[in-house]
Amino acid sequence: MIICRTKSEIRAITAQWRREGKAIGAVPTMGALHEGHLSLVDVAARECERVVATIFVNPLQFAPHEDFDAYPRNLESDGALLASRGCDVLFAPERADLFAPDFSTTVSVADVGEGHCAVARPHFFDGVATIVAKLLLILRPDAAVFGEKDFQQLAVIRRMVRDLDLGVRILGAPIVREDDGLAMSSRNAYLSVDERAAAPVLHKAITLAGEHISAQGAVWSDVCKRAQQEILAAGFSAVDYVDLVDAANLKMIDRAGPAARILAAARLGETRLIDNIAVAPLSVK
Ligand code: AMP
Repeated sequence: MIICRTKSEIRAITAQWRREGKAIGAVPTMGALHEGHLSLVDVAARECERVVATIFVNPLQFAPHEDFDAYPRNLESDGALLASRGCDVLFAPERADLFAPDFSTTVSVADVGEGHCAVARPHFFDGVATIVAKLLLILRPDAAVFGEKDFQQLAVIRRMVRDLDLGVRILGAPIVREDDGLAMSSRNAYLSVDERAAAPVLHKAITLAGEHISAQGAVWSDVCKRAQQEILAAGFSAVDYVDLVDAANLKMIDRAGPAARILAAARLGETRLIDNIAVAPLSVK
């Protein structure tokens, strides 16, 4: 696997691939890779003849009080994991290579970029959209793979690519979980032993909420309140939200249906965890 540290190197490689007629799949990440990330590499490799993964801890998506400096970084072991999954190139640029000192452009996606996670993290999706737009324009891949773990982020990226005609196929990949149901996340490394033991309750509570809202006559406000209580009772310090949405547009709904999805975020000590599940259609008697 080749490791590129600059835009000019990666552009030369992808240009050569395009001349050879090879379809290029991209997997943007912030590193500290786990099986969830690697599953995206598998999808890219299945769909495309060449795979480039990117690792860049994007300063634009962290608020000043968030964990940019503490975010786990281990390029060497990440590189070994990517190589073991057949990734062709790792693009891991330095900040100075991506951002001119007077960088001054922001890509902002309204609508699907509002509500849910944007309430607690108002600048987060602008930061994500801006860096993903840059990476897609540098790499010009045929397809790019993102995890459903970050469901709103996936919706923001799909909308941005459509609205700006970026001409990249966006593929969503299912959430990879630990055996106890906790969604894999680089931030799980922050959890203490007790917090790690409590963490799977987020998934359990929304799974149960999904079953409850699928029952005849269920009222979402009651189901939602119960899920929040279960999460707090497990030792979470706060619930940012538990929302029932239409997966196509992330608008709030109050009934189960074929496109219904529950999105949730909650805080366990200093760590903010997110998760989401598809809701089974209304059960008929
Ligand atoms: P991150 O490095 O956290 O920015 O994530 C990079 C990509 O990996 C994003 O598209 C995430 O949605 C995806 N991802 C992270 N965790 C998981 C997971 N547990 N399952 C599937 N995809 C994931």
